[in-house]
Amino acid sequence: MTAEGKPVPVPTAETRHYWTACREGVLSYQHCLACSRPQFYPRTLCVGCGGARLEWRASRGLGTVHAVTVVYRPPTAAFRPEVPYAVALVDLDEGFRMMANVVGGAPETVAIGDRVRLVWEQRGDAVLPQFTRAEGGGR
Ligand SMILES: [Zn+2]
Repeated sequence: MTAEGKPVPVPTAETRHYWTACREGVLSYQHCLACSRPQFYPRTLCVGCGGARLEWRASRGLGTVHAVTVVYRPPTAAFRPEVPYAVALVDLDEGFRMMANVVGGAPETVAIGDRVRLVWEQRGDAVLPQFTRAEGGGR
């Protein structure tokens, strides 16, 4: 399954809720009701305590760049028009970390500590979370 040659997510039992929420414009993550840890990506059990009572919560989509790299060599031919692009580990304000592209502006200027906000990329039938620099930094 691809969209213009790019891979698209194939939902599993653990990730179906997540990808459905993405299509509705909601970045969801799991919250453990036993130990109160946020968890991302979706799993059957809490990685902190092994508990199975996980609930879905909606992120506000605001975070801070924890690490970033710039991709110059496309992983496949389908990504050739995209390079260079920034891929970052983003610490969401709710306490979980995820990897996504940071789009908009020169990719080489994305820096650790930058405040970012969620944007969406439509890819085939799927909708993928990406980030862009938040206006004004700060909040
Ligand atoms: Zn737990």
